[in-house]
Amino acid sequence: MDRKEVEEIFRELGVLLEGHFLLASGRHSRFYFEKFRLLEWPAAADRLCRALAEQSRNLGARVVAGPTTGGLLVAYAVARHLGIKAIYAERIEVGRGFPRGSVLDPGERVLIVDDVLTTGGSVRETWEAVERLGGEVCGVGVLVDRSQDAEWLGGTPFTAVYRAEVETFAPDDCPLCGQGMKLVAPGGSKRKG
Ligand SMILES: [Zn+2]
Repeated sequence: MDRKEVEEIFRELGVLLEGHFLLASGRHSRFYFEKFRLLEWPAAADRLCRALAEQSRNLGARVVAGPTTGGLLVAYAVARHLGIKAIYAERIEVGRGFPRGSVLDPGERVLIVDDVLTTGGSVRETWEAVERLGGEVCGVGVLVDRSQDAEWLGGTPFTAVYRAEVETFAPDDCPLCGQGMKLVAPGGSKRKG
């Protein structure tokens, strides 16, 4: 799926908003990415998940793992396209785990997926939970990569259906402020990863 096709889906879903936004980082931007719109229309979201499944097919994963909430839906859909199992990493007291009795064979190859990668916190917690269960992470895949630096992934194969490159401005050096445009703080920006 090429970039234009993905952006068309984003516009359809209201994922990509244009205006003058205050981001969680404190910086300003002309665009805001509304990740909570991404999975509201299953048919459109599934086209993205199918693309992620195709991009990940060569990793030889036997299981797909995703963190609640968005990653759970992505894991379900990607596993369905690959014809393999999905497990769901939920919040537990510390980090994430699989508290409902999911099992993995020792060294079983696990693909971790999520809807949007920002700080990578949810993916890292899912990774730790997979290893505690005896699995081996063979790759990480996301629908949208918004991370500035995913160096912590090391040599692990990483794939994204879409890489969002959004220009941001320091508040005292923002051309949109200069134009007197009203600054909007989207509610979703409080949540990360
Ligand atoms: Zn501004």
